[in-house]
Amino acid sequence: MAEVIDLKRRKSKERRIAEGRARRRAQAVASSLSCGMCPRRCAHCGLGVEYTAPPPVDAPYPFCEVCQEEYEAFRRWEKDGQGEAFWHTDEWGEAWRAWLAHMRAGEAFRQSPAFLKLMEEHLE
Ligand SMILES: [Zn+2]
Repeated sequence: MAEVIDLKRRKSKERRIAEGRARRRAQAVASSLSCGMCPRRCAHCGLGVEYTAPPPVDAPYPFCEVCQEEYEAFRRWEKDGQGEAFWHTDEWGEAWRAWLAHMRAGEAFRQSPAFLKLMEEHLE
């Protein structure tokens, strides 16, 4: 009888450990996907953003003034391939492309049923 109780206790402890681990993983997923979503922080560099005017219409994310200029330079660079600064290289363009793709992938995942289920089950 004592062995049965020990086994139940061990299973219960293992279940609690597994639930805690699942909760921490869900929190890590949620916090990694919330990065760049704060309206008062630049989505690209993380600096605080104080808007005195509404953000430009063509800004896909809240950018600080400098990152907005760089984003617009990137959009022009995509069209005409002309860099406006020495660092506007293929690697710079690829970094912007990859960052924008990363942000879009995060948005798609946040809207997926699997993400909603993850949040419901592990973040109460
Ligand atoms: Zn910025």
